[in-house]
Parts: sequence; C-alpha cells; structure tokens
Amino acid sequence: MAGIDVKSSGDEYFMKIALTEAAEAVRRGDVPVGALVVMEGRVLSAASNRKEKDPTAHAEILAIRKAALLLGTWNLRGAELYVTVEPCPMCAGALVLSRISRLVFGCTDPRAGACGTLYDIVRDTRLNHRCIVRSGVLETECADLMTSFFSRRRRETFHRSPEKE
Ligand SMILES: [Zn+2]
Repeated sequence: MAGIDVKSSGDEYFMKIALTEAAEAVRRGDVPVGALVVMEGRVLSAASNRKEKDPTAHAEILAIRKAALLLGTWNLRGAELYVTVEPCPMCAGALVLSRISRLVFGCTDPRAGACGTLYDIVRDTRLNHRCIVRSGVLETECADLMTSFFSRRRRETFHRSPEKE
C-alpha cells in the first residue's frame, strides 16, 4: 500500500509542474496546456502550448521533441508524459510513435480528447504500442485553468466586437 501512495503523490508533484507550464502559456495568450516528459523520476523536458503561431505546437509535441533531442533517440520507452489536459488525436499519435510508456493527464477534453473520451488511440490494440493511462490527477486545477481562459477570451472577443466600439 505504501508504494501506491508514494506513486500517486509523485504524479501530483509532476502535475503541479505541468500546471506552472500551463500558466506560462496563459501569459502568452495561448491555451493553457502544460506537459512534461519524466524518465526515472527526473524531468527531461517541459513545454506549454505555442499554437498561436503553429497549429501543431501542442505542449505534448514540444515536450516529446525536446526529450528525444536530449536522449538522442526517437524511442522514449520507459518515459512518462504528464499533461494537464487529455491529449488530442495528433498528440496521442505522437505518444504511440515515441513509445512513451505511461501517460498521466489532468482533465478530460470533451471536444478533442483521444485518450479515452472521443477516441482511445493510446490503448488501441490495433496499433503497435500502448500506454498505461492515469487520468484525473489535479483534475479541478487543470480544468479551472481552461475554463477561466476561455471565458476571459469570450469576454474579450465580445468587448472587441464592432457594436461595442
Ligand atoms: Zn494535441
């Protein structure tokens, strides 16, 4: 039992770091998603969304690329990916391609989630790799960041509309 407790508090520790990355994206005006690649309890890479200028620059993709560069290999078997929001189909595909062993995410994404919500790409037995998945780690904190970002953006769009000027 002690082992299980240690593991779950470890997940929360890394998710908190992913949340600080997500907060960094908000400061740039980007969607608040943060991701980390962890290997043997050590953070290899961290990133947040930068998709305002590049539609493929999701936090997970950026973190996976940095980790692969650092290790000098595409094969990240043994690594864990922490991300504040459930990965989309593109990022779930990248998890399979990079052979990441374990995925931990905060809140689900009802509009694009591909790790259990709309699709389950990372556990699809037809593909040649599958991840162990844990969801719901610091779920409220992760979801709150998204909700407040989108409601603020809606307010700003409303205030910028021509009728208001
Ligand atoms: Zn994505």
